[in-house]
Amino acid sequence: MAKKIVVIPGDGIGSEITDSAVEVLKKAAEKFSLALEYEYKDAGGTAYDKFGTPLPEDTLEACKAADGVLFGAVGGDKWDNVEPSLRPEKAILGLRKGLGLYANLRPVKVADALVEYSPLKQELVKGVDLVIVRELVGGIYFGEKCESEAYNGTERAWDLENYSIPEVQRIAKLAFETARIRRGKVTSVDKANVLATSRLWRRTVAQVAQDYQDVELNNLYVDNCAMQLAVRPTQFDVIVTGNLFGDILSDEAAVIGGSIGMMPSASIGELTSLYEPIHGSAPDIAGKGIANPVGTILSAAMLLRYSLNEEEAAQAIETAVDKALAEGWRTADLWHEGFKKADTKTMTQAVIANL
Ligand code: NAD
Repeated sequence: MAKKIVVIPGDGIGSEITDSAVEVLKKAAEKFSLALEYEYKDAGGTAYDKFGTPLPEDTLEACKAADGVLFGAVGGDKWDNVEPSLRPEKAILGLRKGLGLYANLRPVKVADALVEYSPLKQELVKGVDLVIVRELVGGIYFGEKCESEAYNGTERAWDLENYSIPEVQRIAKLAFETARIRRGKVTSVDKANVLATSRLWRRTVAQVAQDYQDVELNNLYVDNCAMQLAVRPTQFDVIVTGNLFGDILSDEAAVIGGSIGMMPSASIGELTSLYEPIHGSAPDIAGKGIANPVGTILSAAMLLRYSLNEEEAAQAIETAVDKALAEGWRTADLWHEGFKKADTKTMTQAVIANL
């Protein structure tokens, strides 16, 4: 039976980059005899304009019934004055909640051809290949909060951090499973020297590790991890951490790669998982046909890996991207003298030619 992929182009460059990723998926399907079918749905500002809501019920239901969701990006100046609860970005929160997206996976792999774009020294960046597994629906972002209260004759606010054992077990299992299909190493990041939630986190991760004797586990405090990402990023394979630390570390790790146009992500769900580039809808270049499609193409590869269990096809797409880059193809965001200039379609064809 064919696997169903719901494609949500969204706004801005969303349709250009998802078109590219679907073309690459079609070629991969042909090469590896995969039966894939695609269903297009609206979300974001485009959906608001058509239906008065950024996340139509019909879109959410289709995602729930799908084997995987490929998402472009949402948002743009056009909707800046829309009532906050109906803004395009609300579609993402609605999908997170509706699909139970409890973990965010952000790989950071620096292709040899791209080391020059990193803000770090080339010798530090060469060979970086890590993934950050961030807990997405718990911790301090979702804890009880108080905007303002009287305290000792002044005013204070507070946010409550809490994690339960099942929440930590679920994300830890995902991290160990991810390490198993990679290089077999998990670094759990916390602040166990100060925070009670971190001590429960560390203890629970160690218990889960008992079921994964083939995977190496080590622990780092978050301040040390932030430093290590800058001084020796090649030491990491899988980093697992909570919502707040993951938010910060995943952005730090993303800049190591040098271009946001290249970076994919996966949000793993209880029902369906969602795959999208880490960048936004880039309204400044929308409609010009010059967007870098690679982040979305690599997100499609992650969909094959994590939702469809098609590791070989996923790797083939990743290798094809590396080869296109090694041949010198660069979209406008990365192009400089000495390289071959590619618009979105040319870059897509260069990847397909290498598949
Ligand atoms: P952005 O990521 O859209 O753009 C930042 C800069 O990077 C721009 O100059 C843009 O042209 C460039 N860029 C981004 N992706 C690129 C690509 N694939 N190829 C070439 N250049 C690329 O961030 P922003 O400008 O802060 O936000 C624009 C809109 O996107 C806002 O409405 C924001 O809310 C929304 N947004 C959506 C998501 C999402 O859908 N997940 C994420 C972030 C921002």
